[in-house]
Amino acid sequence: MTSSPQPAPLAPLDLPDAPAAAAWLRARTDDGLARARTLVEQLRSAPPADALATLEQWDQVTLTLSNVAAAGSLLGNVHPDEAVRDEGDRAEREVDKLATELSQDRALHDLLAALDPSGLDQQATRLLERSLRDFRRAGVDRDEGTRARIAELNDRLTELDQTFSRTIRDDVRSIRVAPERLAGMPQDWLDAHPAAGDDGLVTVTTDYPDVVPVRTFCHDADVRRDIAVAFLQRGWPHNDEVLRELFALRHERAQLVGHADWPSYDAEVKMIGSGPAIPAFIGRIAEAAREPAERDLAVVLARLQQDRPDADALTAVDSSYYEELVRKEQLDVDAQLVRTYFEFPKVRQGLLDVTGRLFGLHYEPVPDAPVWAPDVTAYDVTSTVDGSPVGRIYLDLHPREGKYGHAAQFTLVDGVAGKQLPEGVLVCNFSRGLMEHDHVVTLFHEFGHLVHHVLGGHGRWARFAGVATEWDFVEAPSQMLEEWAWDADILRSFATDAAGEPIPADLVERMRRADDFGKGLAARVQMFYAAMSYCFHAERPDDLTARMVELQERYSPLRWIDDTHMFASFGHLGGYSSAYYTYMWSLVIAKDLFSAFDPADLFDPEVAGRYRDRVLAPGGAKDAADLVEDFLGRPYTFDAYAAWLAR
Ligand SMILES: [Zn+2]
Repeated sequence: MTSSPQPAPLAPLDLPDAPAAAAWLRARTDDGLARARTLVEQLRSAPPADALATLEQWDQVTLTLSNVAAAGSLLGNVHPDEAVRDEGDRAEREVDKLATELSQDRALHDLLAALDPSGLDQQATRLLERSLRDFRRAGVDRDEGTRARIAELNDRLTELDQTFSRTIRDDVRSIRVAPERLAGMPQDWLDAHPAAGDDGLVTVTTDYPDVVPVRTFCHDADVRRDIAVAFLQRGWPHNDEVLRELFALRHERAQLVGHADWPSYDAEVKMIGSGPAIPAFIGRIAEAAREPAERDLAVVLARLQQDRPDADALTAVDSSYYEELVRKEQLDVDAQLVRTYFEFPKVRQGLLDVTGRLFGLHYEPVPDAPVWAPDVTAYDVTSTVDGSPVGRIYLDLHPREGKYGHAAQFTLVDGVAGKQLPEGVLVCNFSRGLMEHDHVVTLFHEFGHLVHHVLGGHGRWARFAGVATEWDFVEAPSQMLEEWAWDADILRSFATDAAGEPIPADLVERMRRADDFGKGLAARVQMFYAAMSYCFHAERPDDLTARMVELQERYSPLRWIDDTHMFASFGHLGGYSSAYYTYMWSLVIAKDLFSAFDPADLFDPEVAGRYRDRVLAPGGAKDAADLVEDFLGRPYTFDAYAAWLAR
């Protein structure tokens, strides 16, 4: 047995000042990798005498690698100095390489497979099972020929995935439009798109900053049609062939490690559990959304028919435009007015006050903490119950050159009881002045991941630290926390205009109604995408376009437009593969979790404390379905989601 004398209270990681960052990161990477290799070598040559000590050493390898990967990934994405970002990227690549090497190490597999689990507790048993499952999924227990084929397939799959994404990224199409046909477009968009060339036409591309506003605001239906068709033809025909090979090889890869098909292999490590559960879920959501979608469609179609009495169906040419028109004409939300209530500094303080009260946390600013850029703020997090340290968080919320361009939570340190405190970072790109309410919702969402990371960082095993839960559950806590950014009473506590007047409750009510409108339509469209993601992998059809059209007719309220091949630019077929259902799955769980809270008192300490302790704090130490059941006192159901959809 290893004995671990209780050390001094855990201290946060001492980050370097900017000039020393590259050397610091290089040393952390090289030392970490060397330490991991030594631990593995000791395991191979002189393994500890009992199962628990062996697992502890194996988990120490996990922790050591995660420390390298986390600092590398964070600084690789946010550091202002390019040399540090390169060093971060290198750290990530090196950890990836070593992790792949270990997953294919037969001697390590055999060592763990031979352990006697009889004396292990529930968590250690889980750790052993999960580790063996990783080895099995990597194919390490197969014969040599199979292992060689798996390695070959892995390489080719990475290549195909990259080709698929690159083809989409590079295939930017454009149309040329006379300026007078762009009536309805916002003035700032028109200013950025002057007529150019001898023909005096304006170029509109299929990039999002063009295609989204044109489809939403342009009055001319023919312009909307031309850009919609160009958009839905991206990636075709090249990606048709790339995808058919990708689906075929994923199928082979799954079968080589004993699965019926790719969806079953992929679902084994997810909350949904099995391949066939995916179409069952899709069917269930599609059914729950049938009436709400018909209701939405009738409203949008009626508005379309005011302009074009002969229109008998909705397509991607008109859907965004008429949905937006209905919101504007019937639901009356002035986005310019809404912004005046969301001044960044007040929103940030509001976020801390709301989540602090909800989860029983105190955030103490650490003004002298070393940070990678001047506008990053650090806070030490403590429990308001007993004052114990919970971790450290960093908020890096404004854009800067060379910085990651989206919104995400990054891990800096995974927390393990007695070893290291959890530290996490929120990386976003918000304006410093007034914010859109959408961005406020995003801020709450991402903070949901951050709080999950720190609260889940006090268990025994690195493998289960923080957000180490199933990938189709991981969004649920964040989707649920969004609700706190939609509550009129909560918003009044920090959303005040320049004169200090809080946002009126009736404005919040209209914002909610506008946000709700179209959710039935959207759910059916999402189930069309989810069905495509599943069926393409399970069936591997020869004619992808024909199968797509069938699925669109079955699930989507929007009619197919001739000669379009949307799947060829549906990037999620790469990363999500057969699991595009994920987003909707975690939303179903989020609505069910939220149903335990009293809408009249979202801060009820008993419910909030139970949620914190039973869903967030365990991290990945239990199956997500069990965490949800521990909190709700019953298994999860679809009821809350269905009720929300029907509302
Ligand atoms: Zn998220």
